[in-house]
Amino acid sequence: MRFQGQTALVTGGAKGIGAATAKRLAAEGATVVVADFDEAAAEETAQAIGGHAVRCDVTNREDVEAAVEAAVAAGGSLDILVACAGIIRDNMLFKMSDDDWDAVIDTHLKGTFFAVRAAQKPMVAQKSGKIVVISSTSALGNRGQTNYSTAKAGLQGMCKTLAIELGPFNVNVNCVAPGFIATAMTEQTADRMGVPFEQFMEAVSAEVPLRRVGQPDDVAGTIAYLCSEDASYVSGQVLYVRGGP
Ligand code: NAP
Repeated sequence: MRFQGQTALVTGGAKGIGAATAKRLAAEGATVVVADFDEAAAEETAQAIGGHAVRCDVTNREDVEAAVEAAVAAGGSLDILVACAGIIRDNMLFKMSDDDWDAVIDTHLKGTFFAVRAAQKPMVAQKSGKIVVISSTSALGNRGQTNYSTAKAGLQGMCKTLAIELGPFNVNVNCVAPGFIATAMTEQTADRMGVPFEQFMEAVSAEVPLRRVGQPDDVAGTIAYLCSEDASYVSGQVLYVRGGP
């Protein structure tokens, strides 16, 4: 029960990695607020873990600020922010539209910026907090993902700067960079390539040293560690969760 008495806000918490994280934090005692675009799915996830749901489009500043306020109201503080909301709009550069670029940059970069800026207020005031932002192995480059890899590399820089700015207030900021994780997002990639998801996962597994694709719980466990006192002297780090180096 590492998070007993603490309140956590998970953006993009309705599904995939965010939902697994919300579940894990709740299982270890946190009051969790699930904030997501998809209100019905957020409600479903929240109900399953005894948490709260708020409809929140992270690209909308008012929505994000309201989600932070809802978290503070639910638990009396905000101890943990996990900024998980994300989308992909893959395309080769020559076919990538302005909309593909804007949607991905806005969701990951502006969305995370809005979330961390709103969350730092109560955290700085109480002189404690844990923030985890989500990058990706795509930050290192990935064909068809100029928009996404740019955003995910940007989040690594954001994490390091926030760790410097917020460290003096006892707020740890870290970044988790997953490899291939089996979620709706990677199903979308398989669909786009016209490959059945099972077959796609088998092909990916063969390239992973641990010989399997990651599951949302693999990432949730890492995020939970970074949000816990076990990681109290870890800040500004990018931790790859990719089944290998
Ligand atoms: P997912 O299953 O698609 O979940 C993402 C969640 O974020 C969905 O519930 C989605 O809602 C929500 N969302 C999207 N745009 C939003 C917005 N503007 N405001 C609020 N919520 C929004 O994806 P996932 O695989 O768990 O991804 C979670 C995070 O991990 C993302 O940042 C992703 O980039 C990152 N990541 C994933 C992988 C992977 O292999 N899966 C690898 C590296 C990094 P809708 O479904 O309604 O759009």
